[in-house]
Amino acid sequence: MNKAVFLDRDGVINQEIGDYVYKIEDFKFNTGLFPALRLLQEYDYKLIVVTNQGGIAKVRYTHDEVNELHKFMLEKLLEEGIKIADVYFCPHHHTIEPCLCRKPNSIMIEKAIAKHKVDASQSFLIGDNERDILAGEKAGVKGVLIETNTNILPRVKMDILNVV
Ligand SMILES: [Mg+2]
Ligand SMILES: [Zn+2]
Repeated sequence: MNKAVFLDRDGVINQEIGDYVYKIEDFKFNTGLFPALRLLQEYDYKLIVVTNQGGIAKVRYTHDEVNELHKFMLEKLLEEGIKIADVYFCPHHHTIEPCLCRKPNSIMIEKAIAKHKVDASQSFLIGDNERDILAGEKAGVKGVLIETNTNILPRVKMDILNVV
């Protein structure tokens, strides 16, 4: 069994800008992200992204644009020595069509747990919204709620790794 850290995207990995992020030029990694993810890797955590992308349902951008952006994100992370095991996104929005994947629902996390043979009880989810934490808890994963766009490194050390 593997242990994993699930990561919300906007506000955790990259800057939440108060509007949908779907253009590469709007995608800015948050401070402290790279060392935090490298440290988690050193402690054998798989890294899995789970993100709500309701802008697709709202026709603000397309699946392809999200996939392109994620390709860019994964390439940049690889250049920093960080390997993301998987990326899941929910393209729905509750105001348009209900679904089981949009956080606070937990289907994206449950799928990842099954596919990557994750032990939920040893795993965490880092999010900047209560609905992220609820989604994790439904799947049996402990939540780490951060303030939007803040450096996750201290919280990774304190709340996940218990190191100084
Ligand atoms: Mg977020
Ligand atoms: Zn969905």
